[in-house]
Amino acid sequence: MTTTTSAQQELAINGGAALCAQPVPFLVIRMEEEEKAAVRSVLESGMLAQGPRCKELEEKFAAASEARFAVSCSNGTTALQLAYAALIQPGEEVLVPAWTFIATASMVVARGATPVWCDVDPRTYCVDPADLKKKITKKTSAIAVTHLYGNPVDIDAVQELAAGHGLKVIYDAAQSHLARYDGRGIGAYGDANTYSFYATKNMTAGEGGMVTSNDEKLDAELRSLRSHGETQKYLHERIGYNYRLNDMTAAIALAQLEKLPQRTARRREIARRYDAELAGIAGLTLPRETAKAEAVYHLYTLQMEPKAFGCARDRFAEALRAEGVGVAVHYPRAASRQPVFADTIETHPPIADGLSERVFSIPLHPMLSDPQVEQVIQAVRKVANALKA
Ligand SMILES: *Cc1c(COP(=O)(O)O)cnc(C)c1O
Repeated sequence: MTTTTSAQQELAINGGAALCAQPVPFLVIRMEEEEKAAVRSVLESGMLAQGPRCKELEEKFAAASEARFAVSCSNGTTALQLAYAALIQPGEEVLVPAWTFIATASMVVARGATPVWCDVDPRTYCVDPADLKKKITKKTSAIAVTHLYGNPVDIDAVQELAAGHGLKVIYDAAQSHLARYDGRGIGAYGDANTYSFYATKNMTAGEGGMVTSNDEKLDAELRSLRSHGETQKYLHERIGYNYRLNDMTAAIALAQLEKLPQRTARRREIARRYDAELAGIAGLTLPRETAKAEAVYHLYTLQMEPKAFGCARDRFAEALRAEGVGVAVHYPRAASRQPVFADTIETHPPIADGLSERVFSIPLHPMLSDPQVEQVIQAVRKVANALKA
């Protein structure tokens, strides 16, 4: 790629040869013997569809998240659809963050409700409760916000607002398995929390999802919606779907859940190292954990100030790649800027809007070795120095 080559050449002029021959991959997904054995045992059992492994996963996931109930489902998008089907009615207004993965908001539209876009905090990347408050109208029925990049939103503020206005709260926790807030698992808060087990998430089964809740009636409704509105075998009391998980996938997820506490601790350890070693580089802004929160660092997303480096973010990212560091952009545009939402928005929330030109994510996954973490740190320092305007 020509951009890589020119970035490499320029950096070579400014700062010598690239740091290393072995690139640090942005993400490594590794299935181990436990996952393989778990799938094999399901295959040999002949019970391939939703069965005992799904049930076991639900029980263990609920306990790990400190929620009372958990309903497994096919992916994080159907998890949102189940929660929205139970908690939101068509025609209602739902407050959503302008900075998130599209599904948080697009499934509101799919439900026939209206997304109302709220701005985010520029350091935590999570919804700004002050903006949520401003956007409440008589039609508002729910708040659907994302614990983004593994960092929980300001749950106290959201719950207080919801209680004061009689709003439902759905937390999109697709990136935040095992995150904690105020000393408790995030499953303890809100009406529903939705999760994804997509290939890149902190725990994965390729695809898969979960909805947790703390209300027995809601749990029963979610179960029914998941499977064609059934309440008993061949008794259908509502229109539902087939959003079930299967036991092969659940078996993988169970093996992953077992390893998740240790892997989460490693993610946090690497994040603390980035925090310490990358602080104070002019032009770079590091992510900040929400007060009272324990983030699980699905991503480590920083911001570069184009003016400070005299170049666009993409140029900065290319320079890092030239140094052998995997870089990704989450996200290249605000969710509210997606063409599909053009008729739902007039004024774009300014902070979310500005982030799209500045954010980049560096490798943060539990497979990183200490020398690799060091390599990322050195590369960021080197690129920041070389590009300083
Ligand atoms: C991944 C993700 C989803 C969707 O999950 P899938 O399993 O891919 O359908 C929803 N919201 C957020 C914030 C996500 O990161």
